[in-house]
Amino acid sequence: MPDDGKARPRFPARLESVSPTGRKAAAGLAASSTAVLRPQSPLRQAHADADPRRSIPPAGLGLVSRDVRQRMVDRLRAQTGVHDERVLAVMGDVERHRFVDPALAVQAYEDTSLPIGHGQTISKPSVVALMIGLLLQGPQARATGSIGRTLEIGTGCGYQAAVLCRLASDVYSIERLRALHDAARLHLEPARPRNLRLVHGDGRLGHPPNAPYQSIVSAAGGEDVPAAWLEQLAVGGRLVAPTGGPVEGSQVLVVIDRTETGYLRTRHDGVHFVPLKSGFA
Ligand code: SAH
Repeated sequence: MPDDGKARPRFPARLESVSPTGRKAAAGLAASSTAVLRPQSPLRQAHADADPRRSIPPAGLGLVSRDVRQRMVDRLRAQTGVHDERVLAVMGDVERHRFVDPALAVQAYEDTSLPIGHGQTISKPSVVALMIGLLLQGPQARATGSIGRTLEIGTGCGYQAAVLCRLASDVYSIERLRALHDAARLHLEPARPRNLRLVHGDGRLGHPPNAPYQSIVSAAGGEDVPAAWLEQLAVGGRLVAPTGGPVEGSQVLVVIDRTETGYLRTRHDGVHFVPLKSGFA
């Protein structure tokens, strides 16, 4: 459905919308829109207005303590295949409980996926770490120490985007559901990442205006990797995406490196991601 700009709250005043072509969005015409997080935006107030519960960190649970996140990181290091200390350091910083419903906040530092509404889930911390770790091992990332310009498909609640933008030069994160795109914007506002743009649209088309991307990561799985992602991957870049047939348990993480002459494809762990759907709502 096109973005008609009517049904949504009119905040924040400074949140700029641009179309995928980079032009300012005209009501009713944009195929998708991009929210630019401005440091001086009045989102904090909007956040409180939109959902008062979310503006109050759960009290008395110790969730704001760095120790809670450090324990999660220690468990990830010990119990999973995640050993990239750069990813673990960032995950030790980002407050995951701020991205989920307050009723689920006590589970935020367990290695589990959690519902985020609209039938979607926030990915398990170990899976987030695994995917970003794979991006960091890409040829160009090894050479530069950064995952560079990054495209994320499936913003969801915005947690993975928050981690990505600490390891990337700039991040474009696309979500097809307007309600989740808006929620992610609210969750991310306190940290105010300057190098993150949230896009509302169909991520199967990638995001041509800012291509090519050194890194592309998908949090939703289709039967195969859309051609647009391969086209928008830079030479020397790496794509990580869950891919697999409709049969339960057949989804795996696929890593694709673009070389001067073509694409190198490798299959990794079995995973279970929500489906990559067409269109946006
Ligand atoms: N990285 C997210 C995980 C969200 S789950 C987080 O940290 O919370 C995957 C998300 O992909 C869902 O929100 C779903 O709506 C979205 N999605 C599915 N198909 C999509 C598409 N074609 N374009 C953009 N987003 C899509």
